[in-house]
Amino acid sequence: MSKPAGIIFIAALVLSGCATAPYRAPNEPLPPNWPPTNQAPKPQIRPPSRPITPVVKTNLPPTARLANVVRPAPVVTWIPLNRWAADHKIGAPHLLSETPAAMYAIGSTNGAMVLEIGSREAIWNGIEINLGFEPQLIDHQIYLHELDLRRNLEPLLCDPPLTFSANRVIVIDPGHGGSNTGTHSVLDGRLEKEFTLDWALQLAPLLAANGWQVFLTRTNDTDVSLDDRAAFADAHHADLFISLHFNSAAPSQTQAGLETYCLTPTGMPSTLIRGSTDSWSENFSNNGHDAENLALAVRLHAALLRAAGLEDRGVRRARFMAVLDGQHCPAVLIEGGYLSNPHEAQLIESPEFRQKLAGAIAGALK
Ligand SMILES: [Zn+2]
Repeated sequence: MSKPAGIIFIAALVLSGCATAPYRAPNEPLPPNWPPTNQAPKPQIRPPSRPITPVVKTNLPPTARLANVVRPAPVVTWIPLNRWAADHKIGAPHLLSETPAAMYAIGSTNGAMVLEIGSREAIWNGIEINLGFEPQLIDHQIYLHELDLRRNLEPLLCDPPLTFSANRVIVIDPGHGGSNTGTHSVLDGRLEKEFTLDWALQLAPLLAANGWQVFLTRTNDTDVSLDDRAAFADAHHADLFISLHFNSAAPSQTQAGLETYCLTPTGMPSTLIRGSTDSWSENFSNNGHDAENLALAVRLHAALLRAAGLEDRGVRRARFMAVLDGQHCPAVLIEGGYLSNPHEAQLIESPEFRQKLAGAIAGALK
C-alpha cells in the first residue's frame, strides 16, 4: 500500500475532524460464512432461500444420540467495518480510492488506519502494520475478519494509549552473545552480537534517567539461551521486555529497513514463519498481552523509523520467536536494520547511529 494515501487521509482527518462523525446505518448484506482459511474465499452474498438444517443419521438410541450431538465449529466471522465502527462509536470508514485496489480509511481520536482490499498490509498513523487476513469487498462494503477487528483495530483505534508509571521494570535483551554470534556485517564481518550489546548498553542509562528500573539479559559477550532470557524477565518481574537485533537477507545486499515483531494472536496466521509450523491454534503465555504487545510495537516502531530514517518494513507477527512466546509481560523484538545491506551495515557500525536507536526507544517509553 502506498504511504502517501495514509498520510493524505490523516491530513484529511485532521482538517475535517471527522473521527466522531455521526454514523448512518448502511444497507448491509447478511454476513456470509467464510471457510477458515487465509485464502480469499468466493463471496457468498445471498443467503440460501431456505435455512439448511443439518441431518445427522445414526443408529444410536435417542439418549446416546443426544450425548453425541456435535455442535458446529464456531463460524469464522467476517464483519462489515461499517457495523463494527458503529458498535465502537467511531466514525464510519471512508473510501479513499477504488483503483488499482479499493482502499478505505477509518479513524478515531487515537489515529487513522488505511486498509486495502486483498492486502494484509495496512497503514496505522503512517507506519505499516500487518493484518492476519486480507480485507474483503462484498456489495461495495469492506469486511474485516473478526480477529483482525479484535486484535488489531480495537487496540489501536479504541484502547487508551499506553502509559507507564514510575519505577517500573524493563528488561532489555541484547540479541545473541558468546558462541551465538548472530549475523555479520557484509562490510567487514563484524558480528551482530557486538552491535546489539552496545545498543543495549547505550539504552540502559537513558531508560534509567526516565525512571525505569533497567535489567539487561547480558552485559558482556556471553551465551544466554532463549529460555533463560524469558526466565530472567520473570525473575526480575519485568513490566516490559525488548529484544534487540539486526537483520540479514544475505546473500541479497538490497533488502533494507526496520522491522518490529510481536507474538501472533491465537487463531491468526503469522507475518513471518521462517520454516516453522505456525500453529494458529497455539496459545502462549504472552498471548495474554496481545493488545499491549501491539501498542508497544507500534509506539517503538514509529519512534525508531523517525530517528533512523530507515525503510518501513512494518510491525509484524511471529510465533517462532522463543524469546517472546513465554513472556509474562508486553514484549517485542526489534530488527534495527540489515547488516547484509552495505549502506545499513555502515550505519549500524557507527556508534552515533546506535545512539540514535537507543534514544528513540527511550523517548518512546517516557
Ligand atoms: Zn539477531
